[in-house]
This record gives sequence, structure tokens and C-alpha cells, in this order.
Amino acid sequence: MSLSLTDITLTYADGDDRLTALDQVTLDVPGGSLTAVVGPSGSGKSSLLAVAATLVTPDSGTVTIDGTTTTGMTRGELTELRRRTIGIVFQQPNLLPSLTAAEQLQVMAHLDGRSPAKAQPRAMRLLDAVGLAEQADRRPHQLSGGQRQRVNIARALMNDPAVLLVDEPTSALDHERGAAVIDLLTRLTHEQRTATILVTHDRAHLTAADRIAEVHDGRLSLPSPMR
Ligand code: ADP
Ligand code: MG
Repeated sequence: MSLSLTDITLTYADGDDRLTALDQVTLDVPGGSLTAVVGPSGSGKSSLLAVAATLVTPDSGTVTIDGTTTTGMTRGELTELRRRTIGIVFQQPNLLPSLTAAEQLQVMAHLDGRSPAKAQPRAMRLLDAVGLAEQADRRPHQLSGGQRQRVNIARALMNDPAVLLVDEPTSALDHERGAAVIDLLTRLTHEQRTATILVTHDRAHLTAADRIAEVHDGRLSLPSPMR
């Protein structure tokens, strides 16, 4: 399991001009490791995740997931690849209000064409892994913000993804809960062997990351070597 971004350049239309959101970015993330990506607002962090998630096609460069290069895949093939191999955690949990925590996870199996009932044991194991075994039957309004974000993380892992992409998961949480979510992501990365990219603007949380990459004006640098 691994994720490779090779020489990615992404531009957006900007009036008559083009704005370069990612400038020749290369990043390899081995399975079982977490790379944190930090950088100022507008530096290209979310664009990097959108390209890695195959939600946005770059102007040039390649995305390789688990040995498969995504260049030239159809929209349908990409949708399938995402469902099978990529877990995505955005800033806001976007849980379905009427479903319990366990059901939020089981829906993912259903979308992947598997039986939600058969997926129940895995859903329970993942809820246990994020410390929510007791809250499995609660709906989002019965959970705290930190608990909802942990359901979100467990849901992203439901289909056993090779790649886990996480965008500013702590921005709605206080410092202590934010730190707990980062520790959880690091532990799950090692346990589930995912190739994880975690975008954050809060460096204070990053003691547990395997590696920290910095983005400035769309250019990525890796100051510290992989531990
Ligand atoms: P970050 O997540 O680090 O704040 P983004 O990746 O969201 O940065 O944005 C990088 C740059 O690309 C910014 O200048 C932003 O305004 C621009 N940008 C992001 N998304 C779009 C878009 N869909 N269309 C045009 N410009 C965009
Ligand atoms: Mg962003």
C-alpha cells in the first residue's frame, strides 16, 4: 500500500491568467506512515489532497495508488478506485442526521456493494478503535464535536482503504480534543497500514507524525527525512 504523487502541477483559471496552485509537487507516502502537510492558508494544501483523492485532475504529473497509475482512467473507474482504496476525512464530518454511528459506517459497505449486516462486525471494531464502542447506537446530535469527528474517521476506514486523506480535522475542536484526534489518526495509520496525508495548520499537534512536509505557494518541501 502506498501513494505517490509525481511532478504534479495544477493551475486554476484566474481572470485572463492562470493561478498555480501546485507547482511540480512530488511526494511518496509509504503504507503505514503518516505525512503531515503544513502551510499557510491558500498555499495549496487542499488542492494537494483533491489531486491525491483523484477528485481533481492535475495539468501534469501522475497519481499512483497502490501501484495503479490513475492517468487516463474514466470518471467511472476513478469513482470505483476511490470507493475501494481511498478514505477521505474533511473538516466537517457531514454525518447523516438520521443514522446511528454504526449505521454511518455500514452505509459505506452498502455503497461498495456489500451487505450492511455483514459489515456490522467491522463497523463495531472500528468504532471500538476510535473509542466509541459505547456510542454505536447514538445519532449525530447525541454526540460531541470530537466524537462526530471520530465517527467520520472510522467511516473513512470502513472499506479498508490503502490511502487515507485528512483535511484539517481539528479545526472545529479545542486543543486537547484536536491533539487526541491526531494521535488517533497516527495510531490507526500504523494499525491499518494506510498511506496517510494529514493537512493541518496547527504544528503543535504534529509530534506524532512520521514526517512533516511544508507547502508554500504550491511548492512542497520535505525538511526532515523519513524516520
Ligand atoms: P489551502 O488549502 O492551503 O488553503 P487551497 O489548495 O485551497 O489552499 O488553494 C490554493 C490556491 O488555489 C489559493 O490561491 C486558492 O484561492 C486557489 N483555489 C483553490 N481552489 C480553487 C478553485 N476551485 N478555483 C480557483 N482557484 C482555486
Ligand atoms: Mg484548505
